[in-house]
Amino acid sequence: MEENNTTTTTIILAALSTLTPPQISTLTTTISTLFHFHRSRLAALLSSHTIFSLSLHHLHTLSLHQKSLLIARHLLSILSQLSHILRPTTTRMPPYINDRDLDSVLLLLLLCELNQHDPESLKSLSPTDWRDSLCEYVSATMLTLTGIGFSTSEILMKYIEVMAKCKRFVDVMGCRDGKERKEVAASVAAVVALPSVEVKQGGKECVVCKDEMKQGRDVCELPCEHRFHWMCILPWVVKRNTCPCCRHRLPTDDVYGEIDRQWEVLVKIGGSYF
Ligand SMILES: [Zn+2]
Ligand SMILES: [Zn+2]
Repeated sequence: MEENNTTTTTIILAALSTLTPPQISTLTTTISTLFHFHRSRLAALLSSHTIFSLSLHHLHTLSLHQKSLLIARHLLSILSQLSHILRPTTTRMPPYINDRDLDSVLLLLLLCELNQHDPESLKSLSPTDWRDSLCEYVSATMLTLTGIGFSTSEILMKYIEVMAKCKRFVDVMGCRDGKERKEVAASVAAVVALPSVEVKQGGKECVVCKDEMKQGRDVCELPCEHRFHWMCILPWVVKRNTCPCCRHRLPTDDVYGEIDRQWEVLVKIGGSYF
């Protein structure tokens, strides 16, 4: 577990170190706006008995799988900020998380954090009294709930910390470590955006049907530059988002699949630093 966390941090750091100064500045601006928004939601949640109860109630109605999915969506929204800067053309921003879900996921992460920090503090209390403990914890650890004026490195450290934490939860709650990844379809938007190219020179085979891609014919080119007959690749990408030749991944609407894909990109980009 510790080791996983260190690897996660190293991968993000390695990917961050490839950014140019203007990219770093774009990223920190985006993240600090995002975190500022999260902090103000959390502050409102903790200061209002009603919002707190509603969010807690919402959390109670969610199954473990739904909680895991919520954290995964939150992680993806944070991860995509970096992926989008590294690969603007292939990263679509994930759908907006509505306020109720955002409040619930922020509360869930905070509860997990407090529970990890002091496992006894919540056990002895009824859930309605959790708010006081959380307020105390927050005021002791995050002095600046509404804080602005963080330095670039503080923002980036916070970014790495939040991302590593979410990744750990997603891995643990989804029990996905060591498990075979299930196949997911490529997103419709990604498939629609695939370019059609004319075969200038015949003789090459399409690995799906083993037939030649004849000169003058329009075929499909994936971002990895592997080409296939349209009639061969379309049925393929509605089942899986990987290239039949090199397993390059296309974007997917599956939250876990998309986290895996963006994570793989980060590992590749930061790879030269390992
Ligand atoms: Zn073919
Ligand atoms: Zn390929």
